[in-house]
Amino acid sequence: MRDVIIIGSGPAGWTAAVYAARANLKPLLFEGDEPGGQLMTTTDVENYPGFPEGIQGPELMDVMKKQAARFGTEVISKHVKELKKIDGGFEIKTDADAYQSKTILLSTGATARRLGLESEKKLYGKGVSACATCDGFFFKEKQVIVVGGGDSAMEEANFLTRFASKVYLVHRRDTFRASKIMQDRALSNPKIEVIWNKEVVEILGVEEDKVTGVKMKDTVTGEESEMNIGGLFTAIGHIPNTGLVQDMLELDEKNYVKTLPDSSKTTVPGLFACGDVQDSIYRQAVTAAGTGCMAALDAERYLADLED
Ligand code: NAP
Repeated sequence: MRDVIIIGSGPAGWTAAVYAARANLKPLLFEGDEPGGQLMTTTDVENYPGFPEGIQGPELMDVMKKQAARFGTEVISKHVKELKKIDGGFEIKTDADAYQSKTILLSTGATARRLGLESEKKLYGKGVSACATCDGFFFKEKQVIVVGGGDSAMEEANFLTRFASKVYLVHRRDTFRASKIMQDRALSNPKIEVIWNKEVVEILGVEEDKVTGVKMKDTVTGEESEMNIGGLFTAIGHIPNTGLVQDMLELDEKNYVKTLPDSSKTTVPGLFACGDVQDSIYRQAVTAAGTGCMAALDAERYLADLED
């Protein structure tokens, strides 16, 4: 039975590994199907402290991994298929093997919901983004589209007006889901224009290797139209990766893992959650790393209490 198993290899997982390894807990970390998580699809990261010139998302994950390995984190590049509670701890299973641990640090992250278009996949990071905070800066004086009608879409559209010359807010219905105050802020911004009842059915620019426009379909009339733009942001929600634990602990109303206030403790003792799987609000690499540190410290105290 090990002391610490970490599931997930984003900033939360690697930070938890650095702390757990330096506390001599010999952590074992499972990288999962998408090693590095959401940052692997981000290009320049300019808001992670410590890198004054910025750093590429994949490179940031690579240096975090090296730092965790330096202190003795054992890494397995496999996907965890099952997690269950056993006497004195937990058991996890991959395709081939089973492992047991007194604590589990869950850092499986969240996945930005995508439109599901082939062109979206091809142009991701080349004008298509799901994070205005991360990428907005690269759209100075460009005309961009934000897809969505929730609070995130309002917030991202407003944020983007700091850089973009014009922001089109494209929504598939004729009313927003967003809170009144967020709607008002977006609707009163002179740089934002709302395009109602439209669905983006194609992103143009695959041949040019950068976003050049979109094809849209009117959700009422079915009519198709094209529009030139320099970037497209999706703000259509995130899906927390809670499949492993949904039957064993409490989730919040949005399906994120519920942690106790000021802590990484979940409703199951010994199971700690960090990063985007438990954060529907901030969703930043640096906040994920912060909660990864919290989870390792909480696990360390939990293990010390077990020994006592
Ligand atoms: P959300 O509230 O679930 O809204 C998602 C939006 O995307 C909806 O308008 C939805 O359209 C649209 N959408 C979903 N799938 C789509 C698709 N395939 N194609 C086109 N449009 C699609 O998600 P969110 O805005 O990320 O907000 C998540 C939570 O965080 C909310 O509880 C929100 O209040 C909170 N939040 C709060 C703040 C804040 O207060 N500062 C900021 C951001 C987020 P329909 O409306 O037609 O379903």
